[in-house]
Amino acid sequence: MNDFRADLHCHSTCSDGTLTPTEIIHLAKSKNLTGLSITDHDTIGAYTEAVSVANSLQFPLISGAEFSSVHEQTNVHILAYGFSLESKIIHDFCYKHCSRRTLRNQTILDLLKMHGMPIDELDLKESTPHAIIGRPHIALAMIKKGYITSIQQAFHLYIGEGKSCYHPGQKVSVEETLDIIHQAKGLAIIAHPHLIQNVSTVKRLLDMNFDGLEGYYARFHANQNERWVKIAQNKNWLITGGSDFHGTIKPTLPLGASWVNQETFSILLDHFKSNQATPA
Ligand code: AMP
Ligand code: FE
Ligand code: FE
Ligand code: ZN
Repeated sequence: MNDFRADLHCHSTCSDGTLTPTEIIHLAKSKNLTGLSITDHDTIGAYTEAVSVANSLQFPLISGAEFSSVHEQTNVHILAYGFSLESKIIHDFCYKHCSRRTLRNQTILDLLKMHGMPIDELDLKESTPHAIIGRPHIALAMIKKGYITSIQQAFHLYIGEGKSCYHPGQKVSVEETLDIIHQAKGLAIIAHPHLIQNVSTVKRLLDMNFDGLEGYYARFHANQNERWVKIAQNKNWLITGGSDFHGTIKPTLPLGASWVNQETFSILLDHFKSNQATPA
């Protein structure tokens, strides 16, 4: 079937996206996508509402998350797919990240206060009370206070890596993240490998026991696709893809801008179904 397109990378209001899980599924349908995984940062909260919506629309949905990890000072995002949504291992890991983020956000707010830009912690939760809070929420609160005029500016001047109000927080290693995903019988994929700053980190990651890499990404040029696809093929890894849709906070990344075919989607869907039957 040639018109099969499944977007395996997007963010909802449960992390730093601007559409609810329900809205994302409706949008996916309206764009004639044929499958989806919602990969919020460090949370699977989206699935609480997404599963019943997807079921009622008979829309194929695979469990997913994008976990934040660090390898030798370099931030690495790891996509996890196909784990059971009942997995205690994944739930505990998300809880650990939630606590990590609470402490980290407080440190960033302290730094902003020291730089004359006080923000109340409650201001961060105003629009999305159930979300995992990250730097984009801090950027939006800074705009609301009038300290800066755009999200880009917030990252560029204050909260981007290496800037005066940046703090990495407690670090979770790539190895631990891989171990957790595999214990939960999920598949671990290197997210947007072209965005990883440090070349030696990429080399190290390619020697680790990942199950695949994200070879198709919204803003890849054709030759970038080709490079990562070849690397994955040589390793006999899965090649996943998606848009990294975040809604209006990243308007250049529309849902469905990148996708996988039915063959890849079926591998992940089968994995998910077998894990749902016997959760780890
Ligand atoms: P956090 O997980 O809290 O460290 O925030 C990381 C998120 O911030 C990423 O997933 C992006 O959505 C967003 N982000 C990172 N860098 C930038 C940037 N320069 N401009 C806008 N958004 C960014
Ligand atoms: Fe994000
Ligand atoms: Fe990412
Ligand atoms: Zn993402």
